[in-house]
Amino acid sequence: MPAEPALEVRDLVVAYGRTTALCGVSLSVGTAEVLALLGPSGSGKSTLLQAVAGFVVPSAGTVRLGGTTVAGNCRPVPPERRDLGVVFQNYALWPHLSALDTVAYPARRRGVGRPQARSEARAILERLRIAHLADRKPAELSGGEQQRVGLARALARRPAVYLFDEPTAHLDTHVRGVFLAELVARQREAGAAAVYATHDAEEALGLADRVALLSEGRLLQIGTPQQVYDEPVDLFAARLTGPASLIDAPDGGGTVLVRPGWARLGGPLEAEVRAVWFRGPHSDHLVAGPLGELLVREPGPPRHPVGARVGWTLLRSWPLPGPTG
Ligand code: ADP
Repeated sequence: MPAEPALEVRDLVVAYGRTTALCGVSLSVGTAEVLALLGPSGSGKSTLLQAVAGFVVPSAGTVRLGGTTVAGNCRPVPPERRDLGVVFQNYALWPHLSALDTVAYPARRRGVGRPQARSEARAILERLRIAHLADRKPAELSGGEQQRVGLARALARRPAVYLFDEPTAHLDTHVRGVFLAELVARQREAGAAAVYATHDAEEALGLADRVALLSEGRLLQIGTPQQVYDEPVDLFAARLTGPASLIDAPDGGGTVLVRPGWARLGGPLEAEVRAVWFRGPHSDHLVAGPLGELLVREPGPPRHPVGARVGWTLLRSWPLPGPTG
């Protein structure tokens, strides 16, 4: 028999009074797998995590952790008895504990002696590059620093499943990259699963093994980052995962979706440059021609000014299955 998924959610419905926040969501996450939940604000990402954690009770459906039903039967398993590491937006740190003792706490609870727990905690702080904060209490930490300590504590927990709700919202871009790499490395080492909610497409695509797209409490699509980016099920899913242009297919075969990297400047098709953005490692040209308007991304600085007549080449396109209006 195949191993049980670390987490399985089936036909989950959650309502807050008259608002249905989740409407029949089913998905599963394997051991050592990272699933990103990507959706706009209000799409139900937090609610899904809260239901898995046991902080909200679903009105229908089931939640199973490692093959055990924790919600959806007569008596839900309380949050503290679910083997989870939870990092939510309001990462409550204990005001009286230093960062070091905060991160040492999960090991202490497992029965590890204080010197050993502290030395493990110090190692985690070092890996996350926040060893210099070890002796500070929450009141002496900035929002971003508190968030990093909260994450370090979750990493120290060694649960079967991690739940992250926008855990990098307060972090600067450069810290974020290092941090996410460390987070994923450690989680995989420990063989834990992770569900990572974010509204940041780049973060979701870069981090996850699979991405689940949520809209208005429903699961729109689930697949590898490349599947959801290259083959979106509809225009909404396409826009959720990155920039997308809709143009007429050059062969007259209807409307197709084109990602910015799927066209290049120079070539047989005609257009005029409408706008140009320098974005550091690459630049975007918005061009318009007989087939419509599209964004073309190329490495390096912009090559053409606004108003220039340019040729372009379509390298690939995707015929959207859903309505394109
Ligand atoms: P996301 O995490 O994707 O931003 P949420 O799960 O927080 O989305 O919210 C999903 C929907 O449920 C939204 O319409 C939101 O307004 C509603 N909602 C969330 N929490 C509550 C609550 N405690 N009471 C009432 N409505 C809520």
